[in-house]
Amino acid sequence: MSLKITKFGGSSVAQASQFKKVRDIIQADPDRRYVVVSAPGKRFSNDSKITDLLYLLDAHRTYHVDGSNVFRLIKERFLEIKEELDLKQPIEKELDQLYTNLSSYSQNELVSRGEYFCAKLMAEYLGFPFVDAADVIRLNLDKSIDWEATRARLQAKMNEYEHFVFPGFYGTSANNKIQVFSRGGGDITGSILANAMGADVYENWTDVSGFLMADPRIVPNPKEITHITYSELRELSYMGASVLHEEAIFPVKETNTPIHILNTNRPDDAGTIIQETSNVPRKYPITGIAGKPGFLSIYVYKKHMSNEIGYMRKVLSILERYNVSIEHIPSGIDSFSIVVSSAEVGDCLYEILHRIKKEVAPDELKITDHIALISTVGKAMSHVPGMAGRLFDALGRERISINMIAQDSNEINITIGVDEKDLEKTIRIIYDEFVTD
Ligand code: ASP
Repeated sequence: MSLKITKFGGSSVAQASQFKKVRDIIQADPDRRYVVVSAPGKRFSNDSKITDLLYLLDAHRTYHVDGSNVFRLIKERFLEIKEELDLKQPIEKELDQLYTNLSSYSQNELVSRGEYFCAKLMAEYLGFPFVDAADVIRLNLDKSIDWEATRARLQAKMNEYEHFVFPGFYGTSANNKIQVFSRGGGDITGSILANAMGADVYENWTDVSGFLMADPRIVPNPKEITHITYSELRELSYMGASVLHEEAIFPVKETNTPIHILNTNRPDDAGTIIQETSNVPRKYPITGIAGKPGFLSIYVYKKHMSNEIGYMRKVLSILERYNVSIEHIPSGIDSFSIVVSSAEVGDCLYEILHRIKKEVAPDELKITDHIALISTVGKAMSHVPGMAGRLFDALGRERISINMIAQDSNEINITIGVDEKDLEKTIRIIYDEFVTD
């Protein structure tokens, strides 16, 4: 018998009808023994997520504004699920106590209650015990996971229970206070469980059937990605393809546990399997394409720069002083460009340029704004001659002008910079070049 950790995101537990789908999924496979849930998410597009409402309630309390209406909305959402599923959990009482004692709750504890109440209801509905993340997930002072303590506690729970339901998104800090992860962090909880409990698969159930090779708003009916490595996914997520919390990759990467992204609303769809080392042959030479606008490049030219040791470091340290992170640094013999996010540089741009001029006296300093970065990612591209050539040929034929090229040394990613107005067209051209049946 294998072991699957199943994690259901906010939309999968948004209302009673979604709880039913979760139960069907759990009952369909006896390996699905341990279940992690998010807080109820949106039921329809302009609905509110419970976690957002909890943050709103916290803001009301901070600014001494009456939050009773917000609390009522939260309570109604939980009671609606409870009543429709005919559950007995005494959550009204616990919810009312929470509101009465609101001032004694830290922000972290308050916003964690979305997953807490959801897990309690789900546990009763599935007939599984409820295990509180606060008793199990231990964090260090720097908020990293205390693996030793967490692993020991999870293994003890596993010995005690054959099944359980577990709230995502939070744990307990080194000073014994509830601590939440960053938003969307329920994915991290599932990944911690998968690592510490030695799962064969981490099933992450959401509202899409995995990743697509390109954004469907740009490429009509893009193909699904059936297999992807963690490294490829990291490249694509960094560029904006978001289905899974970025941090959720690390715990399972360590154990090479596959993450299977699946759709609660279409449980028979194949989904996407994320795993670092898998020998499944790839149908296409690329795995996916993602891009985003909003970058600028600072071009620095200095005669005989190549003979001057430390020149680049001095320029980079100026950006460091302004707390700007650097995306890419394509370089020539006597010049280099620094590509950064325009939003991150913000109003400091001219100050930064002034400092560069003053501190390193370049012969030329130039800004190119409105750059979009596009990453073409694919493990199958690595060490295959001609891949970059095909990409640039295709773009050349369509007269797309490229203002930056970067390729990582393990060759799973070619990133190019184009004018923002060409972003979508460029993605379509690359897709059509490599994804042909
Ligand atoms: N409920 C939390 C959030 O909305 C965590 C999660 O859903 O994974 O961010």
